[in-house]
Amino acid sequence: MIKHIILNGRKIEYTLQYKSVKNINLRIKGDGSVHVSANRRTPLDAIEDFMHKKAHLILKAIDNCQKSELKEYFTEDDLKRFILLSCERVYPYYAEKGIAKPEVKFRKMVSKWGCCNITKKTITFSTNLKFAPAECVMYVIWHEFTHLLVPNHSKAFYLELEKVCPDWKGCRQKMKGIKI
Ligand SMILES: [Zn+2]
Repeated sequence: MIKHIILNGRKIEYTLQYKSVKNINLRIKGDGSVHVSANRRTPLDAIEDFMHKKAHLILKAIDNCQKSELKEYFTEDDLKRFILLSCERVYPYYAEKGIAKPEVKFRKMVSKWGCCNITKKTITFSTNLKFAPAECVMYVIWHEFTHLLVPNHSKAFYLELEKVCPDWKGCRQKMKGIKI
């Protein structure tokens, strides 16, 4: 059954299930939903008292789940506009190094954020980048453009990337946290 409880001033919904268990059991699922099981003889007061004692942990777990929820930073149109504009700003650095201007494309790619085809001179960005904050989108742009200089992920590649995107490690870490 669905119940509500006020924990530290916040109204929390939880599912209470009576089972043949010895203790009161508390579980917070990946979606942030709270599940409590207890045996039928346990009074509701005892269950709620137990939850009050764990209030800090429960609220923290709920907040953590919500944080990992997918956030849309751009609409798809805004994302494309942002990337195209950023590519215009980024390109002169590579033009100076004799790199031909790549064609920028968009595609919904699930397994990667971007890819660079050096022979065809195209850079394709995943429209899923709308789930990434601007600085991470910039990291992907610098990353793909750097491939025009160094095609692989060798040490030389990262040295080049570092010159234009010093926080590439931080951005890469953030990108790993975005689960689509
Ligand atoms: Zn790469």
